[in-house]
Amino acid sequence: MTHTPNFPSRRAFVGQSLAASLAFAMPTRAATSIESDYFDIHVHLTQGWFGEEHGPLTAAQLLRWMDAHHIAMAAVLPLVSPEAFWYPVTTEYVLRETAAHRDRLVPFCAIDPRALTTHLIEKQPLVDMLRRYRDAGALGFGEHKPRLAIDDPLSMRLYEACNEVRLPVLFHLDNQANMDRPGLPGLAKVLGSFPDLAFIGHGKGWWSSISGGITQADLHVGYPKGPVQPRGAIDALMDEFANLYGDLSSSGAHAILRDRKFGEGFLKRRAEQLLFGTDYYDLTQRDFQQFQLFDDFQLPAAARLQITRDNARRLLGLT
Ligand SMILES: [Zn+2]
Repeated sequence: MTHTPNFPSRRAFVGQSLAASLAFAMPTRAATSIESDYFDIHVHLTQGWFGEEHGPLTAAQLLRWMDAHHIAMAAVLPLVSPEAFWYPVTTEYVLRETAAHRDRLVPFCAIDPRALTTHLIEKQPLVDMLRRYRDAGALGFGEHKPRLAIDDPLSMRLYEACNEVRLPVLFHLDNQANMDRPGLPGLAKVLGSFPDLAFIGHGKGWWSSISGGITQADLHVGYPKGPVQPRGAIDALMDEFANLYGDLSSSGAHAILRDRKFGEGFLKRRAEQLLFGTDYYDLTQRDFQQFQLFDDFQLPAAARLQITRDNARRLLGLT
């Protein structure tokens, strides 16, 4: 079925809703009819906005949007760092708002690493806090988005605690959050330091690094155009580190579609390390290129299932 990025008619909506809930009740059906089985690794709930058309985005609205887009389950990410969003979306809020919908909404937790200088100074209280979040239902850590180097000592202490509690880390990378240099040497240090902890890359700096030959300024270009140049950092790091994954939300799908020949090969080659996601957070968002990937490219059924659902479920311990 061809995915329609805009909201369908009411008639189609009802039919798709039903299909989505039926599909969710039968998660193991044949690979040929998987449209209803997307696992979205990256969405947000919001509490308010600059105008009514943008939000708030409640759990009930999110679930209706997921039905319309054949998304069975989604990871709901807090945004706690001051640089991360217009206002903080706390872990506690995400845990509370998802509590009645845990069959479909998987909460993540987040802590700003600068809290490690003032309140969570010792390792054990930090580990204990992450454990409490995990015991309350959090299955991952993120969206990690502080204005610090990605390998800042504070973040390294945070990753160490995530490693101990077994919480995969989803990070945003550009020149304002989790900063790094072309080639992503800071990220390489992080990945090598915690080989058993999964890191999920997201954001313009991460996805511009699909191409080689980029500058520091390129790490802050949201939708770079033109063919992908050889020796991109993402391929090199994915070759070296099996604990590295890519989140296709937001600029991710564009990075695949900017150079279709490279993109199709990348999707097939990296099927074990890519996760479907949208970064839905605003009621006015309409065009999600992420669905186009699976309409435009003929992926083997197994690869498609890995990317759209199974990698996320495995990483979060849902299978
Ligand atoms: Zn996000």
